[in-house]
Amino acid sequence: MPETIQPAALRTDGVLQLPLPALSLLSDLQRRGACCAWCRTTLTAETAVDAGERPAVDGGQLFPRGCRKCAGRAAYQLLWEHSRACDVCRTDPTCPVSVAATRLMQEAEL
Ligand SMILES: [Zn+2]
Ligand SMILES: [Zn+2]
Repeated sequence: MPETIQPAALRTDGVLQLPLPALSLLSDLQRRGACCAWCRTTLTAETAVDAGERPAVDGGQLFPRGCRKCAGRAAYQLLWEHSRACDVCRTDPTCPVSVAATRLMQEAEL
């Protein structure tokens, strides 16, 4: 069976690489994860959800984080796009990407 899980979607530590707003829309605070990558709410260690460190296309490094609500919405978007392309999800409800995204959606209480 071909490997269809996008390797970038789920890191080995279980953190999802959530889909982010366009890089040009992110402030320095958002790039560092000091405030939510989507709604710009200031984050604390208790409220922040890791959105997946990644290199930025402009050469920098992103450490994006989000509030629970926004991360949940991003997880929903990721799951929607992922599940249509993933052969594992078709037959196996325990696809790790799906499980991780569903957990974020539940934590957001969407
Ligand atoms: Zn937010
Ligand atoms: Zn899947």
